[in-house]
Parts: sequence; structure tokens; C-alpha cells
Amino acid sequence: MVLSMDRWVGKVAIVTGASSGIGKAIAASLVEQGLIVVGIARRSELVEEHSKQLSGKKGKLHAVKADVTKEEDILKAFEWTSKKLGLVHILINNAGTHKRTTLTEGNTEDWKATLDLNVLGLCIATREAVKVMKANNINGHIIHINSVAGHTVPNVRHLNVYPAAKFAVTALTETLRQELTHLGSKIKVTSVSPGFVESELTTQRKTHTPEVKAMLAQMPILKGEDVADCVVYALSTPEHVQIHELTIKPVGEKV
Ligand code: NDP
Repeated sequence: MVLSMDRWVGKVAIVTGASSGIGKAIAASLVEQGLIVVGIARRSELVEEHSKQLSGKKGKLHAVKADVTKEEDILKAFEWTSKKLGLVHILINNAGTHKRTTLTEGNTEDWKATLDLNVLGLCIATREAVKVMKANNINGHIIHINSVAGHTVPNVRHLNVYPAAKFAVTALTETLRQELTHLGSKIKVTSVSPGFVESELTTQRKTHTPEVKAMLAQMPILKGEDVADCVVYALSTPEHVQIHELTIKPVGEKV
């Protein structure tokens, strides 16, 4: 199989949750590969700062401020992209959250925030991307940043609705694949499921006690760049090849 990113050079990719962690690394990788990247986040100033650091690379990063739990923000971000940069060819549904609470004592707002972002935000962004791709005969690619917790519930406390949200992403990947097949579309969909990755969601969480930090420091861990490489690999496949599911774990991961 010949892998190449050539057909994406100069094309527009939207990356949600591009202000930190995995999304930031994916945005950087796609810019390196020559894509025009729209990095969506609430902290768009961080994406702007990153864009400056990436100046001189083959592609370009544009920051768009949007809350992916708000449908109107997602619609505006897609509208801005079409008007200012052109038609979206790639969507990376990366924005995600995990609230440290439980099913037995957690509050509804925390669960809702997780489900609104990790599931509904992903669905709305996907629908908007497919709309543009279908209307313009673009054989685009949609990649969901899922999780190993979207396939097996890890035996870890305080996960509450997070695994359920990621199991939903697993189902949504296959449901979208089937819908696109029924439509006779060549748009691809891929789920990338990482294990433990260094980010604000994990090691860099501000609320960690020194004990938790010390415990996490002992665990095998991936970098955002490792996940970004998986995304580039899935995008590089020939037009007839679809990576459906790609799981990546650090060597030695226990859960
Ligand atoms: P980070 O917390 O570092 O990044 C999360 C990103 O999502 C940030 O850019 C954040 O930007 C954005 N985000 C959060 N809430 C919203 C919102 N309401 N609207 C728009 N953007 C939002 O975490 P990770 O990089 O680890 O997480 C990225 C994805 O990877 C998630 O889907 C996560 O579930 C998944 N994942 C992570 C793993 C890990 O071990 N780290 C393992 C497996 C999967 P901002 O706050 O500026 O809005």
C-alpha cells in the first residue's frame, strides 16, 4: 500500500479541541503536511499563539473560537471556514472532556457537559462536514478521536459517563460508515482509540494532588504526537482503503 498525503496538500481540515493535548499535536502535524487547518477551541488565543509558532511551515493554522457543546457555535465555525478558507475536506472530531465524578454521586451538569461535547458535538460537526463534502463531491475523511475506554470499560474510579460516551463514538463510527455506504459516498470515517496520553485531561490536570502526580508519572504514556501520527497514517491511505479502527497504547499499559 502506497501511503501519501499529497492529495490533501492545500486542502482545509477542521480540528476540534486544537488548543491543547492531542488536538494541538494533530493541528501541528497537518500544518507540517501542508494543510490549511482550522483549530477550534474555546481558548482560541492558545491556537493563535500556536499558529505563530508554526509560521514558516508548509500549511497554516487558523484559530476559531467556538464551544462545541453549542450548536450555533459549530454552525458559525463551519460557515466561517467555507467563506474564508474554502471547502472542508477533513474533520478531526477531537474535542472531548472527562469530569472527575461518579455515577452514584455525580451531578447532572457534569454528565451532560461530557455527553454534549463527546457525543452530540461530534455528531453535529460530522453532519456539517458531510453536508459540505456531499454537496461538492469531495471524497473527504472524518476521524473521531475515540479512546480505549470506548471498547472496554477500564477498571478505574471516577469514569462515570465517559466510557459510555466513547462507546457511543464506536457505534457512531460504524453507523456513519453504513450511512455513507448506503449513499454511495466515498467519504471515509475512522476511529482512533488511544490509551493513556499526556495532556490537560490526564497528567497536566491542575487539580491533581502531588500523590496523584507521582503515581501518574510512573505510568507508561503516549505523547499527543503519537496519536497525530496515527491520524496522518489513516489519512495517507489510498482512496479505496479505509482504516476503520486504530488502537494505540503505550507499551506496558495495564488497563
Ligand atoms: P485536553 O484536555 O488536553 O484537550 C481537550 C481539547 O478539547 C482542548 O483543546 C479543549 O479546548 C477542547 N475542548 C474542551 N471542551 C470544549 C468545548 N466545550 N468546546 C470546544 N472545545 C473544547 O485533552 P486530550 O488532548 O487528552 O483530549 C483530546 C481527545 O482525546 C478527547 O476526545 C479525549 O477523550 C481523547 N482521549 C484522550 C486520552 C488521554 O489519555 N489523554 C486517551 C484517549 C482518548 P478549550 O478548553 O480551549 O475549549
